[in-house]
Amino acid sequence: MRGGKVAVVGGSIAGCAAALALRRGGADEVTVYERAAGRLADRGVGLAMHNARYAELELAGLVDASMPYHQVTRRRWYVRDDVVASGPLGRELAVLPFPFRTYNWGPLWRELRRRVPEAADFRHGSTVEAVEVTPEGAAVHADGHTDRYDVVIGADGYRSAVRAAVYPDVQPGYAGYLAWRGAYPSDRLRDPDLWAEDECVYVVFPGGHLVTYRIPDGAPGVHRVNWVLYTAPPPGLDQGLQTPTTLHPGTAGDGLRAHLAYVADELLPTFWGDVVRATTHDELFLQPLYDFTAPRYAVDRALLMGDAATVARPHTGAGAVKALQDATALQSALTSASTWPEALSAYDADRAPTGRIMVDLGRRLGRGLVQETPDWRSLDQAGLEAWWQRTDGTGAFGGTPRART
Ligand SMILES: Cc1cc2nc3c(=O)[nH]c(=O)nc-3n(C[C@H](O)[C@H](O)[C@H](O)COP(=O)(O)OP(=O)(O)OC[C@H]3O[C@@H](n4cnc5c(N)ncnc54)[C@H](O)[C@@H]3O)c2cc1C
Repeated sequence: MRGGKVAVVGGSIAGCAAALALRRGGADEVTVYERAAGRLADRGVGLAMHNARYAELELAGLVDASMPYHQVTRRRWYVRDDVVASGPLGRELAVLPFPFRTYNWGPLWRELRRRVPEAADFRHGSTVEAVEVTPEGAAVHADGHTDRYDVVIGADGYRSAVRAAVYPDVQPGYAGYLAWRGAYPSDRLRDPDLWAEDECVYVVFPGGHLVTYRIPDGAPGVHRVNWVLYTAPPPGLDQGLQTPTTLHPGTAGDGLRAHLAYVADELLPTFWGDVVRATTHDELFLQPLYDFTAPRYAVDRALLMGDAATVARPHTGAGAVKALQDATALQSALTSASTWPEALSAYDADRAPTGRIMVDLGRRLGRGLVQETPDWRSLDQAGLEAWWQRTDGTGAFGGTPRART
């Protein structure tokens, strides 16, 4: 099908990819509303993309090798062991393959933004206040105006206004624990040679784990250390975080910082504790974990993408991948359908099941890696491999495979 006037609410990963897919899929007019006035690229830390998912997205023309990345190949698992003198890294439990490219969120977004065709009307600093959706079209209220479209796409993240218009009762549910996150230049590492550049590291402890890997930082070969530590805070310290919210760098309160310091000092081996301690207050931020998935990805003339449609816990390693895959599915739906209802229904049939798979996977991994952790010290290479296979189950870690579009 060709033609049509489409509004995209949100101009982050999903929104930029949607604008590209819509133009390629033949939409006549595309308007992107992005609340942030600019400088989106200065925010964000690291994300990882499975090599196989990258290859599919590259074939689909959404990503390419000019987007700065760092190649990681293995995932080494450590645990602190006070009984065996195991050195600053801790005791190694296992090494598993980890074929992922890692990205710095800002430069990745900037590259996607650069690929949005000039013909799309990309409005930075434009907040959508409300959306109305009917079986024939959609009205978007923003900046004191109301504009009418054939279709509205919700690419406006986990607190989506578009989702609220079609699913007012679907709300992110608090997972019961937090992610403390940080990133900083890797020349701050005291003993970088102890940690191979192509290794992602999982440091496990009772009730949580630290994940850390390097991400690109400007010039080739220059990196930042990116880390995420998942655990439940002491009771009461997450008050106010149970309803969807984001805490920006530098805003973590004393109690939550003290808990992080306790984990770094008492539960992590010294090298990995140092990785956390090297982070300044301004580089540290908190991400309370939520998850949900919309029952359908398309309702009347509204279509949901990325985090607006589904948020799976980040243990799945697939948030950005899923958002980009949603765009490739949108493009295929547009090129194969002859009417909007057909295209929306094809998109929904393709993507809603993936949303459910990823949320289930995130919950299973959250249980295994945070909420009901095994006796880590009892696991060896074979034991950890078997545990991972049971916990991952579907093999959807890093995202579900997609056929060429
Ligand atoms: C600045 C920023 C930095 C991030 N950094 C990381 C990171 O380092 N690592 C990581 O794994 N993930 C990061 N994320 C999240 C990541 O992009 C998503 O989890 C995933 O890629 C899906 O993207 P999305 O586009 O669906 O949602 P988001 O990336 O959440 O984008 C939603 C967009 O919609 C806009 N928006 C929301 N409401 C409105 C409205 N009413 N009107 C207009 N615009 C609206 C927001 O400003 C935002 O740009 C970041 C997101 C943002 C916005």
